[in-house]
Amino acid sequence: MRGVEFVGETARVVWRCSACGAEAHCRVNQFVERMALRWDAEHWCDACAHRSCVHGGLRSAATPEGVRAAIVAANGSARLTLATPPPSRVAILRVLRGSPELSGDVAPDLSAARRLADTLAAGRLGGTWCEMTLIALRLRARGVEAGVERVGPVSGGR
Ligand SMILES: [Zn+2]
Repeated sequence: MRGVEFVGETARVVWRCSACGAEAHCRVNQFVERMALRWDAEHWCDACAHRSCVHGGLRSAATPEGVRAAIVAANGSARLTLATPPPSRVAILRVLRGSPELSGDVAPDLSAARRLADTLAAGRLGGTWCEMTLIALRLRARGVEAGVERVGPVSGGR
């Protein structure tokens, strides 16, 4: 049952309980759902039983940097790969321009999308596993054969 199943990653981070101030637990998740990137964070405290949950990605495409960093630290990052020979650049640019997940929350303009396409063609377009999987799914939906490779676990930039 590999293939189109749930795509998601999780990480544990240390959390300061907002109710009692004790050191508490937080689990952050990033996942792909219906061709969109989502994230959430669950907090719970053993000291006072306080719980809370934050859901993100419904309105805004961006995953907070702290969540991304925890996901990458726990799981490593990923790299998007293209089949050779290089497929249609027009289709790739369309997908990249429609993918605000790659640049904070703003859809890349044409020059930004061109830079991303160059990075992709050079095999250096990276991000979290979920981010790269989402872009690969969008590329495949436009007939561009794309894959995702695990990089890392990483320590620091590359
Ligand atoms: Zn607490």
